[in-house]
Amino acid sequence: PGPQLPHDPTKKTIVVLGSGWGATSLLKGLDTTEYNVIVVSPKNYFLFTPLLPSVAVGTLTPKAILQPTRYVTRHKPRQVSVIEATATNVDPIAKTVTFADTSEIQGQVSSTTIQYDYLVYAVGAEVQTFNIPGVRENACFMKEMEDAEKTQRRFLDCLESAAFPGQSKEEIDRLLHVVVVGGGPTGVELSGEIHDFLEEDLRSWYPELANHIRISLVEALPSVLPSFSKQLIEYTESTFKEAKIDILTKTMVKEVREKSVVLQKPDKSIVEVPCGLVVWAAGNTHRKITRDLMAKLPEHQTNRRGITVDEYLRMAGTDGSIFALGDCTATSYAPTAQVASQQGRYLARVFEQLAKRDNLQARLQLLETAPEAEEAKAEKGSLQKQLAKAEKLRPFHYSHQGSLAYIGSEKAIADLPFFNGNLATGGVATYLFWRSAYISNLFSWRNRVLVLTDWGKVKLFGRDVSRE
Ligand code: FAD
Ligand code: NAD
Repeated sequence: PGPQLPHDPTKKTIVVLGSGWGATSLLKGLDTTEYNVIVVSPKNYFLFTPLLPSVAVGTLTPKAILQPTRYVTRHKPRQVSVIEATATNVDPIAKTVTFADTSEIQGQVSSTTIQYDYLVYAVGAEVQTFNIPGVRENACFMKEMEDAEKTQRRFLDCLESAAFPGQSKEEIDRLLHVVVVGGGPTGVELSGEIHDFLEEDLRSWYPELANHIRISLVEALPSVLPSFSKQLIEYTESTFKEAKIDILTKTMVKEVREKSVVLQKPDKSIVEVPCGLVVWAAGNTHRKITRDLMAKLPEHQTNRRGITVDEYLRMAGTDGSIFALGDCTATSYAPTAQVASQQGRYLARVFEQLAKRDNLQARLQLLETAPEAEEAKAEKGSLQKQLAKAEKLRPFHYSHQGSLAYIGSEKAIADLPFFNGNLATGGVATYLFWRSAYISNLFSWRNRVLVLTDWGKVKLFGRDVSRE
């Protein structure tokens, strides 16, 4: 009854948890002829996160940077099941995953448990709030598509409320004060995008309000973008100064209230600053399901940053049946799309090799039962050689292609590995490079066309300010 999961009993079953950078790049490279493949994710799409801040200000429409996961899996040689569900429990001993349909509409069956031979654990991370009061209730995040849409709606709401007749100057200033928390790449890119929206559109659509709009970027550390080179940090700071984006470093947000943020200034004094919109971009922490899974292997999973894996991405403490990648792991690499996608590609090759190994082992077993003919002996020797090769996995090796970030005003910064050194560049040319790099990194031609069309539409008609 009903749709069945692909199950050829002669093949091993891979369950992939997630449809983000790690999982999607694995699925793109995976040869599904040798496996039963099941993908479980609460989102039935892949989100191209680098362009998410552009959605928050209406430069891009949401669909331009989403790609349904079935677009990837439907081209595979064997059927791949894509299930829109949230994994709620992984049992590494029984090798089972339990998942539930957590969407608005549910059928008669909304939770089930399945068996895996291999689990690819790529559930990413969630927003770190440090349990700071009021963050969940009063701030917007910038992690998922719904976060960007909510930010856009709230910002436009602030504008329209400020435009309401009779509003006092103080109230207009409050409503139009945007506070971005976190001076990492997400916070910086979002501040730059909001500034562009202001300069390119809001000045003409809301001329009486534009001068009241203020953007403050709050960062607890002594500088923004700590992972970029000093020269690019300074370039970003001077670009923001020109753009009148206030950078408040060594300043920590202690509380987010309905109409204000509470800041601890560098001299440790506490101030309450009125604002209309707070966007929280203060980094990542791991999900509950990850914490639960780690707790099941307490001797091996002790890193507070996430899952410990070996150099082949196998989760420590398991028999090699769970591979973990991307933001849910604790490795020496930064939690970036670049790392997760390279790990996904690597894992696709690992599975190809594991399938080869299993096939060779099966053929050798068959020969064991065959009579000891000369031919069989020769074949056995050759198969054993091939098997020895197939059993040797190559460790994962990360190749850093550089870091890029958009900082607004049609300027981007790039730290690129260059010969044996580093090339740090910033400016308009880097911005064009940023645009072309992201266009070529988008996973499909469909998305490339949608993004290019949106960029063209904004150039011609400006950003849309209607509030849905
Ligand atoms: P994700 O891509 O987050 O995917 C996790 C997947 O797991 C999602 O599909 C999610 O729906 C699913 N999931 C969640 N819970 C469950 C569950 N219980 N069961 C099953 N599935 C689950 N990195 C760069 O290198 N360059 C950039 O320019 C860049 N820009 C960024 C901009 C923004 C705004 C953000 C937020 C991040 C950016 N990053 C960038 C970081 C990058 O997006 C992450 O490092 C990357 O997404 C990690 O990939 P992942 O596969 O580990 O996790
Ligand atoms: P992040 O962890 O890089 O930065 C968060 C910042 O928030 C930190 O600098 C932290 O000091 C600050 N912070 C935390 N709590 C605070 C508080 N209470 N008050 C003030 N400041 C506070 O987070 P991110 O920017 O979301 O990036 C996450 C990951 O995604 C990183 O690995 C990053 O490299 C990657 N990313 C890359 C790009 C890019 O390359 N263009 C863009 C976005 C994200």
